[in-house]
Amino acid sequence: MQAVLTVDLGAIAANWVMLRDRASPGAVAGVVKADGYGLGAGPVGRALLAAGCRHFFVAQLAEGMALRAALGPGPMIAVLGGFAPGADEDAALVPVLNSLADVAAHATAGGDGPAILHLDTGMARLGLDATEQERLASEPGLLDRLDLRFVMTHLACADEPDHPLNAAQAMRFSAARARLPGHGPKVRASLANSSGLFLGPAFASDLARPGCALYGINPTPGRPNPMRQVATLHAPILQIREIPPGTTVGYGASWTAGRASRIATVAAGYADGYLRALSGRGTGILAGRPVALVGRVSMDLLTFDVTDVPGAMPGDPIQLIGPGNTPDEVAARAGTIGYEILTSLGARYRRDYVGA
Ligand SMILES: *Cc1c(COP(=O)(O)O)cnc(C)c1O
Repeated sequence: MQAVLTVDLGAIAANWVMLRDRASPGAVAGVVKADGYGLGAGPVGRALLAAGCRHFFVAQLAEGMALRAALGPGPMIAVLGGFAPGADEDAALVPVLNSLADVAAHATAGGDGPAILHLDTGMARLGLDATEQERLASEPGLLDRLDLRFVMTHLACADEPDHPLNAAQAMRFSAARARLPGHGPKVRASLANSSGLFLGPAFASDLARPGCALYGINPTPGRPNPMRQVATLHAPILQIREIPPGTTVGYGASWTAGRASRIATVAAGYADGYLRALSGRGTGILAGRPVALVGRVSMDLLTFDVTDVPGAMPGDPIQLIGPGNTPDEVAARAGTIGYEILTSLGARYRRDYVGA
């Protein structure tokens, strides 16, 4: 018996359409890095393409190659981490240039291929820093041979609407764009991630780059989630054990039954991305009722107290992720964020794609 991850492609498409309408007149890309946030970049990408999405972002070259094979020649596929000139062979991927060295490498290697220029305005991660931006402004020839499709930056605190860095980054970005030699403010801008689309019209720009919201993660933490839920995970009960009070369950004997209990062991564990930090804190839903995860999360197994669900039988599915225990809620219990719950989802689940 195998756990089943159900991915609602119709909900992903509806989420994309909702964000596109918000961003209008700007365009909206689909960020499908890390295998579509764990849900499958191929099926997710095809669903977004069918919904009208024409711009995609991945993190790494290999992800871009695989996505090109899945999507065919039409849409733009940009690689956030960049790649060596020519390394994309005939996949026509668009490199994100993250430094003047990247700019120089692509300009000398034939140039005139499309590229995206990344300016760092407050992440101190990838992108041209303030010094490199100065140099670019004073050496107008550097960009001459590039076909710049977009100039982008990435927000550090978009999920905190009141954080002063949001407005500061937007100002630095527009100032830096105005000084871009030969291109100037004509080059289209790409600014917002998912949460950025909820900061107001000034943040949408010409091309938004949402990821998490497409997959049902709340882009407005602390406020109601405007997105549709996408991922549901059910794991089957393998065995049910009746234990007397005083019996301990699992590794480390970390949980002791306070009453005569029925313990259901299900087929999923930390090797499947069910984080071990959920030991003693996770919840499942069985026959519509919440059941508590008891004891430690093992590599392949979880144990739930199903004493209060008398009809529970081996083979019954316990919902580990879904309505009532969304990725955001599971993340809160594990002390992490919904992104990590989704991108940790393991390879051993059967994956059912519905709603295409
Ligand atoms: C991951 C990523 C995104 C998408 O961010 P979400 O918060 O998932 O919407 C956008 N832009 C860049 C540069 C990223 O790395």
